[in-house]
Amino acid sequence: MPRLLHVGLDDTDSKKAMCTTYVTAVILDELKNMGFPAAEPPKLIRLNPNCPYKTRGNAALSFSLMVETDEVHIIKDVVLAKVRELADLEERGTDPGVVFLTGRIPASLAEFSTKAVKEMVTMKEALDLAKSIGAEVHRFKYGRGVIGALAAIGNKFDNGFTYELTAYRTKVHWGTPRSIDRTSVFEMDTKTRPYTFDNVDYTTGEVRIMPHTPCPVYLGIRGTDPAVVESALKMLRLEEPVERFVLYRTNQGTDAHLADVKISDAKVYSSVRIRGLVSSAPSTIRGGHVLFRLRDQTGQIDCAAYEPTKHFRKLVLELVPGDNVTVYGSVKKHRGLSKTINLEKFELMKAATVTSTVSPKCPRCGKTMKSEGRNKGYQCPRCKFRDPLARPTVVELSRRIKPGLYTVSPRARRHLSKPGESVYVI
Ligand SMILES: [Zn+2]
Repeated sequence: MPRLLHVGLDDTDSKKAMCTTYVTAVILDELKNMGFPAAEPPKLIRLNPNCPYKTRGNAALSFSLMVETDEVHIIKDVVLAKVRELADLEERGTDPGVVFLTGRIPASLAEFSTKAVKEMVTMKEALDLAKSIGAEVHRFKYGRGVIGALAAIGNKFDNGFTYELTAYRTKVHWGTPRSIDRTSVFEMDTKTRPYTFDNVDYTTGEVRIMPHTPCPVYLGIRGTDPAVVESALKMLRLEEPVERFVLYRTNQGTDAHLADVKISDAKVYSSVRIRGLVSSAPSTIRGGHVLFRLRDQTGQIDCAAYEPTKHFRKLVLELVPGDNVTVYGSVKKHRGLSKTINLEKFELMKAATVTSTVSPKCPRCGKTMKSEGRNKGYQCPRCKFRDPLARPTVVELSRRIKPGLYTVSPRARRHLSKPGESVYVI
């Protein structure tokens, strides 16, 4: 009887080398050559980006295969042998985990995955769950990767999914600078956006499809349509050989990490989306960071656009008290300070009215009159005409920022954060 076998992997990489996506790519090709093709494109799941002990990029992987019961052991042997061979086990903090599960995805595993993407889960939760659903767990060293491996298998893409087509380098190139015809990347971006995203950062002129780490990834193209992503790759003029390609389904760019909460429920290390009113004017503090306070019916919280978000800070500075906004970001708490939302983006839902008062003009000579004090009228400084009943006019000032979504530029954006529909420049 053929059954669906799910395989999850995580934490095979370190800052210095390797990448769990590459380990998965090698395993998938090996299994395919043995006559076991994956049932669907593998899943690349980004976990809670605020996890203090996250691996670089915090990605976990999973794939599924239809196999006969008596062949399951062959698959398991290949997976475990490759993890042992390729994982950077020497490195402190690399704690691979591999999980095997057959049959349907239990609801409890899907819930666990949603939690691992949004907040913190413990090793105990992961191991208890694995036991209760009959998942087979393999821990290398401490095996923290079990958390991600389970989450990758259980992820049902609650917020939809995107694709990433990743090209891997041949071994001789690992650790050397990556090279590509830059012009071809800009041309590809122009032709394929918005069906691809995060190719380039127009605020800095930077090419964003190549990582800067010593890992085996040459480049990755992200997009919403697999056919467009593949044709985008063909538009690039590559400047080194590619060992293999893999198309992943992923929760990148879907906002899957955000929880809709009230201010009083914003948990440290979680990522949130909160609607409220700006309650203090944004100001720039030492270090170039911009801060303002947000309130809703449950309380107040500081929101920060840090210096590395560059131009985004100028947009934040346009907010005024009373603006109705939705803020997106991760909740941090530094010692001695109150909880702060590290902003990824905000949407100005309804702009507050900003007014200014204008003094009346002298009816005799046209000069702007001077106030004699509150409710005491005005006097002309030139001809001394006095009008005790004159009052200022209140005028509405036009705001430079309009309702809309404002995001940090691609270089400062988190993998999970959905790109903005529009870019506004002030
Ligand atoms: Zn006058």
